[in-house]
Amino acid sequence: MRAFIAIELPVEIKNSLSRIQEKLKIEPLKINWVKPQNLHLTLKFLGDIPPKQLNEIKQIISGITRITSGFEIKLNTPGVFPDMAAARIIWIGTDQLPLELKQLAEQLEIKLAVSGIPRQEKTFSAHITIGRIKSLLLLSDLEKVIDKIKTAAAGLNWGFDCKKVTLFESTLGPGGPAYTVLDQFNLKIA
Ligand code: NAP
Repeated sequence: MRAFIAIELPVEIKNSLSRIQEKLKIEPLKINWVKPQNLHLTLKFLGDIPPKQLNEIKQIISGITRITSGFEIKLNTPGVFPDMAAARIIWIGTDQLPLELKQLAEQLEIKLAVSGIPRQEKTFSAHITIGRIKSLLLLSDLEKVIDKIKTAAAGLNWGFDCKKVTLFESTLGPGGPAYTVLDQFNLKIA
């Protein structure tokens, strides 16, 4: 089964992001906008795991979340992966990475690696993917999209409290992925 660990977003944040996506849809650009219900902040992509490993993975997540305090995330910056010249992913993230979030992602990498889950080579970057670019954009078009996101986001209150972590199954299909909650893990009350 294909699985990943993420932070779910409050409905108000999903709605705000969805309104921004709507404003960007008027552009004649080949971008797949993530369905509002699917918006999330990935902590760790597990890939294909054998179902019999699920309990072990849940134990690891539970052990980490039990000793990590909840925290506030402030979403304040749009960005792209891998870079402006070859952008494939459009995201909204933070330049104020909470220490607890950094530690959560690091601990998941370390402890899951012991159970054979491949480590992510890149450093953790807290982001919410809002769109996937299907064919490379002109730099000027991409800059326009990023500017529009910044304008649309200005003045919005994007902070939210993160109190739990969710383990999802992802089922890929012709209409895009469908995510199912497999389990949820409360963070320590700060
Ligand atoms: P997924 O591949 O199951 O991934 C779940 C989450 O894990 C993603 O949100 C992603 O995080 C992260 N992830 C996936 N692969 C990763 C990797 N190799 N390394 C690190 N993190 C990884 O589900 P998905 O990404 O939401 O969608 C899968 C594919 O379906 C996408 O590539 C997309 O192009 C396609 N799609 C198709 C349609 C359609 O209408 N046909 C619609 C939507 C999507 P982040 O996103 O947070 O980086």
